[in-house]
Amino acid sequence: MRIDVVTIFPDYLAPLSLSLVGKARTAGIVDLRVHDLRDWTTDRHRTVDDTPFGGGAGMVMRPDIWGAALDELLGEDSHLLLPTPSGASLTQRRSESIAREDEHLVIACGRYEGIDARVAAHYADRGVRVSEFSLGDYVLNGGEVAALVLIESVVRLLPGVVGNPHSLVEESHGEAGLLEYPVYTKPPVWREAEVPPVLLSGHHGKVERWRRDQALARTAERRPDLLRRLDPAELDKKDRATLSELGWTVGEHGPVLPSPEAVAD
Ligand code: SAM
Repeated sequence: MRIDVVTIFPDYLAPLSLSLVGKARTAGIVDLRVHDLRDWTTDRHRTVDDTPFGGGAGMVMRPDIWGAALDELLGEDSHLLLPTPSGASLTQRRSESIAREDEHLVIACGRYEGIDARVAAHYADRGVRVSEFSLGDYVLNGGEVAALVLIESVVRLLPGVVGNPHSLVEESHGEAGLLEYPVYTKPPVWREAEVPPVLLSGHHGKVERWRRDQALARTAERRPDLLRRLDPAELDKKDRATLSELGWTVGEHGPVLPSPEAVAD
């Protein structure tokens, strides 16, 4: 996969030479290049922003500078990604589809009040695949952190990046639609806290069942919204019994929490 990131703070992306993403670059799995938007400016001050039409606070990034940069970087099969707090939230499903389908990402990091709205519209009109995405319901100073998050979540899904691909299957927000069960390692007793005995039993079936029940309980407690979205066809008899112990029943459209006070989460 090739990834181009355009920013006015290229140093912000320095961590991309560390850890698994850094190794993926060295191994040639990902060809990642960071560009300084100011390289496409033409004035002495290397200006990338101007005052907003219609008035108001702050500055807006100029479309002509972004246009010059993106015309040069976008190819026929590129996916243009624009981080913005007004985009759809980035999800594991989204990262999976990018990792599976895209060969070239161009990530345009906004600053100030953001990028002139004509930029996204222009490239979409020209047939470029354009996606605006948000990290969540809060406002950052710039798109660089969002670019780091997107790149890390996508690159770790590319074949050959994570040593044991099975570790990607059971994670939170994976195919099961549940949060991951709690994990433990040595020592078996730490500050009087013991590891759940079933994990030391060596009984594979019991460990699997315990983990599944823990994942259901954790999701019910922390993310009931995820539980409600589960496909009832994916739930076996024991899942249903566990959910019932947790106060849920499995209806036609998925698990439901009948008691009104519990629904008000
Ligand atoms: N005025 C904009 C608004 O209210 O939507 C916020 C601009 S923000 C200060 C500057 C840049 O930070 C944005 O253009 C975007 O690239 C990035 N950014 C801020 N919050 C973000 C978020 N939650 N997700 C993704 N990118 C974000």
